[in-house]
Amino acid sequence: MTNKDLADLIFPNLEHDTEYYEKLYPERDLKENQYVTRFAPSPTGYMHIGNFMSVLIDYIIYKNSDGVFFLRNEDTDKAREIPDAIDKITHILNHYGLNPVEYEYKGKIVGNYGPYVQSERIDIYHAYIKKAIEMGRAYPCFCNKEELDEMRLNQERKKQRTGYYGKYARCRFLSIDEMCNKIKAGEDYVIRFKSMGDFETKIPFDDEVKGRIEFPTNDEDFVIMKSSDKLPTYHFAHLVDDHLMRTTHVIRGEEWISSVPKHIELFDAFGFKRPKYIQYPLILKQDGDIKRKISKRKDPEASMSFYEENGYNTTAVIESVMTIINSNYEEWRRENKDLPFTDFKFQASKMSASGALFDLEKLNNISKDIIAKMKAKDLCDESYKWACIYDKDFKELIDRDREYYISILNIEREQEKPRKDIYNYKMIKSLIWYMYDDLFDKENKEYEWKNITDKDEIKNILNTYIAKYYNDSDDKETWFNKIKEMCDSLGYASNIKEYKKNPENYKGNVADISTVLRVALTTKSNTPDLYQIMKLLGSKKIEKRYNMFN
Ligand code: GLU
Repeated sequence: MTNKDLADLIFPNLEHDTEYYEKLYPERDLKENQYVTRFAPSPTGYMHIGNFMSVLIDYIIYKNSDGVFFLRNEDTDKAREIPDAIDKITHILNHYGLNPVEYEYKGKIVGNYGPYVQSERIDIYHAYIKKAIEMGRAYPCFCNKEELDEMRLNQERKKQRTGYYGKYARCRFLSIDEMCNKIKAGEDYVIRFKSMGDFETKIPFDDEVKGRIEFPTNDEDFVIMKSSDKLPTYHFAHLVDDHLMRTTHVIRGEEWISSVPKHIELFDAFGFKRPKYIQYPLILKQDGDIKRKISKRKDPEASMSFYEENGYNTTAVIESVMTIINSNYEEWRRENKDLPFTDFKFQASKMSASGALFDLEKLNNISKDIIAKMKAKDLCDESYKWACIYDKDFKELIDRDREYYISILNIEREQEKPRKDIYNYKMIKSLIWYMYDDLFDKENKEYEWKNITDKDEIKNILNTYIAKYYNDSDDKETWFNKIKEMCDSLGYASNIKEYKKNPENYKGNVADISTVLRVALTTKSNTPDLYQIMKLLGSKKIEKRYNMFN
């Protein structure tokens, strides 16, 4: 019996061999600096910010090089699969405008290198596993869980490295006849790769982020095909896929670095060109004095759904993650304010090798700047889209009078120094609620009085203002001059400089008076421009709110 007999016994009915697939998926017609990247999520969980970082790197390399970016669904772990995970991932890519060139969605394949769903590629993997058996580089292993557990315990007891290697790789010593007989007798088996590596030697390889790395050479006969569903493991599936899909850059988390010796041995055994590796660092979070790994359990911002649920502007999220992808991004952005982020030239060497610190505060600041530059109408549209999904009451509020909402958003906007108090769509309602009578009446009001707190004095200021100084049609200058006039008449300084010289001569100054006018109207001591707020509210609402103090 030969390896070929063994391979035929295991895979008797394969329609095609590896040569067929090599021809079906030829080298891509790429110029020298055109690259092929892929995002290869396992549909076993939610999309986290590390995945997003990976997508951004994939995407920017594809854009920078005018190459290809494809999405591959790595669904070989059927037990852990979550049914709608890939829909969610596709939605996120779409939401951020990071769409792959090649993909498969709901059975439709776009691109010449598909299927892009691993479970649909089982025949392809089998052809390559069969070839590995024929080459004498893979074999069936019949060890069951109990035997493997016992072996591990034994290794631990003897203080030896655990794993299926060298003399411990028991089934590699079976004769082909023995293997065939066991298979014919219906014994359960997995397929293992047959390593030729020597653990005592080191294998150097290049990671584009960390530079040259050395690891002990792989000597483990790791599993490449599972017994239950005959699907390949990640190690093997990605070898075949990245080879046949002609991936030039494998971008994935640094947790994969220690597996690279395995992957190198696989690529070399088949004579496949190794891809370049960009294995990005962990995303960290500052937690008090320490920096720790961002965690899906403790940190809501670890999940990409957080940004959508809270109505973060997509550009702001992309920008903030770009700042942790490359250390020179912020400087580039300062010099290139209006260019799309894809014009930035990504360099793996400018990635932090030790961990990327993600800071929500920074995202909020970036977001404030971006939202400040949006036109009121656009901000209305975006926040409305958000409200339709996440805040029905807010949606209805906007629906009631869209123009009024736009005017509110327009306060201190579209000017040289626009307001910068909004960093996501979710918070808008909590910033503008006082512009709506029904919300104002409902609210359990906490007035943020400042220097003037005396009830009678407040009442006096508001009554005087309404009786003598308020006029709906005043322009801004007249409006302010009248407030100053009122200051003088009530014993407050209309001139701050004057006040600072002789504070004892006054009850307070114009800022104190304005604060009373502002707080009585909005409850807030800090709001955008009071004149514009008053203009929008109009005399009826103003009088009603001021009268509440009588
Ligand atoms: N399916 C693997 C994961 O989600 C992909 C790793 C890779 O990009 O190669 O971790």
